[in-house]
Amino acid sequence: MTRSFRYSALPMRVVFGAGALLGLPAEVEALGLSRVLVLCSPEQEKVGRQVAAALGERAAGVLAEARMHVPVEVATRARDLARELGADGCVAVGGGSAIGLGKAIALEHGLPVVAVPTTYAGSEMTTIWGLTESGEKRTGRDERVLPRSVLYDPELTTSLPTRLSVTSGINAIAHAVEGLYAPDASPIVSLMAEEGARALAAALPAIVADGTDLEARAQAQYGAWLCGAVLGATTMSLHHKLCHTLGGTLDLPHAETHTVVLPYALAYNQPAAPQAVAALSRALGDVPDPARALWELAGRLGAPRSLRELGMAVDDISRVVEIALASPYANPRPLSREGIDRLLRAAWRGDPPGAVGGTSRVLPGTSAG
Ligand code: NAD
Repeated sequence: MTRSFRYSALPMRVVFGAGALLGLPAEVEALGLSRVLVLCSPEQEKVGRQVAAALGERAAGVLAEARMHVPVEVATRARDLARELGADGCVAVGGGSAIGLGKAIALEHGLPVVAVPTTYAGSEMTTIWGLTESGEKRTGRDERVLPRSVLYDPELTTSLPTRLSVTSGINAIAHAVEGLYAPDASPIVSLMAEEGARALAAALPAIVADGTDLEARAQAQYGAWLCGAVLGATTMSLHHKLCHTLGGTLDLPHAETHTVVLPYALAYNQPAAPQAVAALSRALGDVPDPARALWELAGRLGAPRSLRELGMAVDDISRVVEIALASPYANPRPLSREGIDRLLRAAWRGDPPGAVGGTSRVLPGTSAG
């Protein structure tokens, strides 16, 4: 039986394909922008300056200071610079950090953002913003930060190092996984999630074999677009909550943390999410156990598989468990202290994820599924 659902499409335009960057000046013009501030990370300053040069007089300046999790002092500098330059929009070139900086400006000044993503993180497809102050990351949703236009050009991703390509790709698959069992899942989102996971799982081995394989890069970016759209359309659960805590509290690297945690969070939820398991099983090549398959995929691709190797101390596990249980949120399987503790200990050691899915005692009042 088809279940009831609600779905709201987000107002944005997507231009996809090798060479899409050439259309950026026309895209900026179509939005009526004449003085845009180009944003990028210090490592991608060269690309940022090339983009500014291609925009000619429509570029008011370049700020190459984007950093992970948008530190509030960087956001303040970017907002001040946008005001000083009289910018009427931003072009964010890069991963979630550069796009996050564009969103921080949009949140305060309401300036439209054009995004040119060069990783698979998916921020360009969401209304989610984040700002970090004194080690604490605040996030929220606001339609003002949604990029008006997104240009996906796979040629810009051939320079993404192999390790980051793999972990960023698995970060994207994590959006698909949690979108499939989200409380606000809907048929169109589930189609996007399954297809996005399929495209990325197929593309990543080819990228590891040859990072300049444009066809594989295009397939991965196509998957990242779909998975990002899933992230933008649904409410995330245990996996994203754990990664948010591990990144925000312990400063663990974003994409690597997602890569390590995903098989364990999925193993935990699999017993309570049969439709998600069926969709992921198909997406990953008719595998019997998607959590195990993702763990094996990460191993084959040479990605990190334990929180220990990301630098987490074992003593921090209990703190993360408490934070994960502190405020209730939607999750298909009720959360138990014992279950989350077992999940994190297995992820810390890098064990096969199977044991995490076993039955565990349920804490009263933690089910929000
Ligand atoms: P990132 O943007 O920090 O990029 C990582 C590094 O890779 C940077 O040094 C960057 O310059 C470099 N890089 C990026 N693309 C490259 C390329 N094509 N070639 C060479 N180098 C390249 O990493 P990320 O994983 O994309 O983003 C992580 C951040 O985004 C986190 O702060 C996360 O919280 C946020 N995020 C937000 C959302 C959202 O919806 N708001 C979604 C996903 C991620």
